[in-house]
Amino acid sequence: MTIIQMKYCVDCGWLIEASSHPEEYERGRQAIEHHLETGHYVRSGDGVGRAAESTVEYETK
Ligand SMILES: [Zn+2]
Repeated sequence: MTIIQMKYCVDCGWLIEASSHPEEYERGRQAIEHHLETGHYVRSGDGVGRAAESTVEYETK
C-alpha cells in the first residue's frame, strides 16, 4: 500500500508531494511559506479523496 503524504492549496492548486520532498518538515515549511506569501489555505492529504482529485487536475493542465 502506498500512502502519498502531500500538502495542497485549496485556492490555487499549489501542491507538494513526498515524491519530490521526502522530508515531512520540508513539506510543512514549504506549505507555511506558501500560506504566508499568498494568504491561501494549504491542506494536508494522503493521496485519497479530494487530494487525489486535486492531483489529477494539476497534472492534466
Ligand atoms: Zn495557493
